[in-house]
Amino acid sequence: MIAEFSAALSSAKAVADIIAAGKGVIDQAKLASAVMDLNSKLLDTQGAAMRIQNESATLQARVHELERAANERSAWTAEAAQYTQTQISSGLFAYVPNDAPAGSAYMGLPKYCCACFEAGGKALLQQEHVTEGRMLALVCPNKHPRLVFRYAVNRPRPVHRRW
Ligand SMILES: [Zn+2]
Repeated sequence: MIAEFSAALSSAKAVADIIAAGKGVIDQAKLASAVMDLNSKLLDTQGAAMRIQNESATLQARVHELERAANERSAWTAEAAQYTQTQISSGLFAYVPNDAPAGSAYMGLPKYCCACFEAGGKALLQQEHVTEGRMLALVCPNKHPRLVFRYAVNRPRPVHRRW
């Protein structure tokens, strides 16, 4: 843009020099050539300005997109902080609310799929009875592998030590 603008200024100066040097008698061919050169340089400058305007619009759109993504990420971080990945049966994990009362059974709490949670979303696990072996299963609505178990453990009660 700066190069195009400088070239246009040089051409304008050349036109002005031709007019000033003529002192009433102007070489029309030289003047026409200088004016055409000036027009060409002005078009180059206009093109460069339009390219800069387009690049600016693209960059502004990208900034808005990144701001939106950052806001979403921030909202999810605040939401996710209200849950903890917890072992609800032997070797079986899910996200459960932090504010569930201590000692309550995990069976009665909403439980969320770890894979979905770590991908940035909550998917409520639904319980199913497995007909063989009297087992239970937690099923993710997003088709992650179901979690099969015999029984859920209780939330640990806070430890009160006596010294
Ligand atoms: Zn899932």
